[in-house]
Amino acid sequence: MERRGAMDVCILGAGVVGLMTALELQDQFPNANYTIIAHLFNQNTTSDGAAGLFHPSSTFTGPTLDITENWIADSYSYYDNLRNSSDGEKSGVFQCSGFQLSSSMPSLIWSNYMKKVAPVYRYATEEELKVYPGNWKYGSYCVTLGIECRRLLPWSLLRFQESGGKVISKKIESFGELADDYDVVMNCSGLSAAQLCQDRQMVPIRGQVIKVHAPWVTQFLYADHDTYIIPSGRGRVTLGGTRNFDDHDTSVSKWDSEKIREKCSRLIPKLAVAPELETWVGLRPHRHPVRVEVETLSIPRKRGGSLKVVHNYGHGGYGVTTAPGTAKHAVNLFRQLHSGCSESQPSKL
Ligand SMILES: Cc1cc2nc3c(=O)[nH]c(=O)nc-3n(C[C@H](O)[C@H](O)[C@H](O)COP(=O)(O)OP(=O)(O)OC[C@H]3O[C@@H](n4cnc5c(N)ncnc54)[C@H](O)[C@@H]3O)c2cc1C
Repeated sequence: MERRGAMDVCILGAGVVGLMTALELQDQFPNANYTIIAHLFNQNTTSDGAAGLFHPSSTFTGPTLDITENWIADSYSYYDNLRNSSDGEKSGVFQCSGFQLSSSMPSLIWSNYMKKVAPVYRYATEEELKVYPGNWKYGSYCVTLGIECRRLLPWSLLRFQESGGKVISKKIESFGELADDYDVVMNCSGLSAAQLCQDRQMVPIRGQVIKVHAPWVTQFLYADHDTYIIPSGRGRVTLGGTRNFDDHDTSVSKWDSEKIREKCSRLIPKLAVAPELETWVGLRPHRHPVRVEVETLSIPRKRGGSLKVVHNYGHGGYGVTTAPGTAKHAVNLFRQLHSGCSESQPSKL
């Protein structure tokens, strides 16, 4: 339902970052008009293919350590509250536990971010290091969350629409196309921000995974050489992986697939024959640091004034983990924009 005289806000992008931003806006400012514009939805997004484990590595970087820790803490509590709500099941958030193991590097198995949010996070015991085949010298155990984007994205989109949000399926080539119809654009365009914003700090990190049906895998495992086995909801298990910096190739590599099967089966031999559901390649939208900030674009507009853009992109391999927290930050920036123009537009939100 269009609210006449209210502010018109476009959320560009329907991946996990765009959808979390859209829901946060509707929660905090229910009187504005919201439109999501995207060319890819649900199963066609990068977000859909993510393993979905809440497990930020210490390499994940926002503008400052404090801000980054706030994003992670806000995200964890958002998902945990959702899990415990009546929509917990429908939204695809579940609790899971598991190990991170290394035969050589103690720093690889520890994340101070996780220590601050996970209900259980500790070093693995000598006995635990012997459970999985390999010469494991270092390990950590944690209880965390899994987020199945195949359920979270459609659930979020439906909630957005039920609250009056409009959805348009199209690709835009520049922000100029949005200038006449919207007062503010929330830019959650993931890797495409490289072109839209001419942002040379955006780099794809290619990742190939195999999704198998293995409902008997109940714990996640991370090990050296980017080996991971992650329960991704309803019996789907993500086997990984690869991490190729500045690689744009989205085609499946047979060689990578063989390598992934082989290294995961070394940890859990039964995985050698687990039925494959799909093999998938995605490009992690990496930026150092993740960009959450306001930009004012002086584009000629019928509405007058300049177009405000709140950027929220560049989450790399941790977008599912951190989307609710960066969404909250982006909406705080949106609030500041509004208070900046409140004299001329007092009742638009
Ligand atoms: C193999 C792999 C495993 C991963 N595992 C995890 C994990 O376990 N945990 C985790 O936290 N993260 C994980 N990630 C990272 C995660 O997938 C990303 O960080 C996240 O999906 C980024 O979300 P996004 O919304 O920014 O981008 P996307 O999901 O790519 O969405 C971008 C949206 O913007 C729209 N868009 C872009 N440009 C335009 C345009 N010009 N016009 C209109 N619409 C546009 C698209 O249509 C789309 O809707 C993984 C990634 C990979 C590749």
